[in-house]
Amino acid sequence: MADIVYTFENKIYMNITNACPCKCKFCIRNNGDSVGEAKTLWFTAHNPSFAEIKAAVDAWDFDGYTDEVVFCGYGEPTCAYDNLLKTAAYLKEKGLKLRLNTNGLSDLLNKKPTAKELCGLFDTISISLNAPTAEKYADLCQPSFGEKSFDAILRFAEDCKGTGTQLKFSLVDVISKEDIEACKALAEKMGIPLRVREYTAD
Ligand code: SF4
Repeated sequence: MADIVYTFENKIYMNITNACPCKCKFCIRNNGDSVGEAKTLWFTAHNPSFAEIKAAVDAWDFDGYTDEVVFCGYGEPTCAYDNLLKTAAYLKEKGLKLRLNTNGLSDLLNKKPTAKELCGLFDTISISLNAPTAEKYADLCQPSFGEKSFDAILRFAEDCKGTGTQLKFSLVDVISKEDIEACKALAEKMGIPLRVREYTAD
């Protein structure tokens, strides 16, 4: 079984699924089997059940941990929507701060609006914007939903606004300077801070 809970740069991460509707050209999964202290983040037999995730959480010592716990891992957390909600609620009971790193496609994946439910549990949601237009997003991230993905991401982000959850966009600097500037302008227009992350192959 892959690591469900792992640490990276002194933060605790939750890896609850390997499923993802995208094939981003810069995806870290293309470069290796793990991140940080994890041995492997690939689930060989099956994605974990809630019982398996809970057992991994129970085996972890969160005592004295004051930083946020980040749901990220080797897959899109909202692909495991029910387990994501249950795990987040379980960690919340322990008084932990939670961040969700997501591709923003939860509504399409789960065929319903999901922002309010997620914002009810997560202190911070970081949405991968990645590109300034639907066409460029589809080219870079190759989502199974095609070009309608981009509008769905923007709608999800709009729905998160005003909920009290801290909201951020992110992108990886594998796109042109012009596209980064266009993403900045879009994020600014939407009133959401944008973090430009440096691409690293490790
Ligand atoms: S959305 Fe995340 S996990 Fe999925 S392919 Fe893109 S970078 Fe990889």
